[in-house]
Amino acid sequence: MERCLFCGEMRGDPLSFHNLFSPEYAPGFCLSCREQLVPIDPRHCCRLCGRDLSRLDRNRVTEGTCSDCVKWANSGRNGLYVNNHALYHYNPFLKEMINQFKFRGDVRLADGFAAELTRAYRRIVHNCVREQSGILKRKPSFLLVPVPLSSERLLERGFNQADVLARQIGAPIVQALVRVRDEAKQSKKNRAERMRLRATPFQLNEKAAVSLSGHKILLIDDIYTTGATMRLAAEALAPARPDSIRSLTLIHG
Ligand SMILES: [Zn+2]
Ligand SMILES: [Zn+2]
Repeated sequence: MERCLFCGEMRGDPLSFHNLFSPEYAPGFCLSCREQLVPIDPRHCCRLCGRDLSRLDRNRVTEGTCSDCVKWANSGRNGLYVNNHALYHYNPFLKEMINQFKFRGDVRLADGFAAELTRAYRRIVHNCVREQSGILKRKPSFLLVPVPLSSERLLERGFNQADVLARQIGAPIVQALVRVRDEAKQSKKNRAERMRLRATPFQLNEKAAVSLSGHKILLIDDIYTTGATMRLAAEALAPARPDSIRSLTLIHG
């Protein structure tokens, strides 16, 4: 038996055929920790940002889309950006887990999410195949682009959490973006301020960008909040002429 990657308790449930294929199975975490992770059901989420629609006020939902995403669509700022997929709801437990991961440098926690991230990645690829028309449906090739930290923040933290999460998936990773400045703390702004698009803090990494042309891009980050970061990243990637840009995050917050 192994210890839980988060709380250190013995995991208690040996690997079995059943839990290996159960959707809530997150190897590495004990049952009590897993029960506190609340997965977002992909069948009942906003088709654009991946949030759970059942938790949202009815009048904020239009045809499977939340009101934030309707605003984004109307803003004309989506560009090549298609949608986001998120694994879990933000709750106090996950907040504590993310603190331990990001701010106390416990990168092993990412291993506990490998199975779910990989499963979500496969689902995204599968959905793309389904959306294709014609008889010869080709499996699309995705390139993962971790949302970067500024060099100051990277130095301070020692790792980029988005990069660590991306490496769990096992698909090709391209460091196509550079973050040229940090944002003021998002939590200090109100929602309207956070949704307003600033000038992009991202630049294209010209060397890496040559490989993006015609490819489907999957941005990877730990959390999707207002969606502004994703649009800004997509905007910076656009000159490299990718086919389309989607994102996958651990959390919808
Ligand atoms: Zn635990
Ligand atoms: Zn939405």
